[in-house]
Amino acid sequence: MNIILLGPPGAGKGTQAQRLVEKLGMRQLSTGDMLRAAVKAGTPTGLAAKAVMERGELVSDEIVSALIGDELDAMGIESGAIFDGYPRTEAQAVSLEAILEERGRKLDHVIELDVNENALVDRVTGRFTCATCGAGYHDKYQQPRVPGTCDKCGGTEFKRRPDDNAETVRTRMAEYRAKTAPILPFYEARGIVSKVDGMADMNHVTAAIEDILAS
Ligand code: AMP
Repeated sequence: MNIILLGPPGAGKGTQAQRLVEKLGMRQLSTGDMLRAAVKAGTPTGLAAKAVMERGELVSDEIVSALIGDELDAMGIESGAIFDGYPRTEAQAVSLEAILEERGRKLDHVIELDVNENALVDRVTGRFTCATCGAGYHDKYQQPRVPGTCDKCGGTEFKRRPDDNAETVRTRMAEYRAKTAPILPFYEARGIVSKVDGMADMNHVTAAIEDILAS
């Protein structure tokens, strides 16, 4: 099974992808995570992407599609793929078709996380993760049970993404509206889009996605 999670920054794509990985053994392919790893490692891709990401703009289609192809090759055919943050443009959607076909895969579902944009700035600017295990938290909505200590691994170091500030989030949303939302009709025409209420409780969102995947 190969699925796309689609929605603006803060819609919950990463959170839901992680849950599906844990519950269903699928693999999460997040171009944002791949790019952040490349920036950290100082690779040529990372050097090309760093400033673009800090502005909240989109990295080139060629770079992200190459990352996705490499990752699919590395994981083998037996695991299902959850595309998180990819495709983000029409050109990427077209590339994904070819990338999947070349590897004997096909797209089963596109899940649109439907959210109220006004709530997203708050969701994104408050989020932080455990620097050790990556568990996600939020200043207002999900503090660690013991302040300063990760619930999952006991780590005491936390980090925030440099692009999770109010100004960059607005650019990222504008990019979503202008370049990503317009790819929905491409998938709607094939009858594979399902809309999920991304403002609902996280467990409800997961259950709704699982229902779609089981259908
Ligand atoms: P994300 O972690 O998905 O919010 O992505 C963080 C940033 O990485 C975005 O704001 C873009 O600058 C870049 N990025 C991630 N995925 C893509 C993509 N599919 N196409 C272009 N840029 C991307």
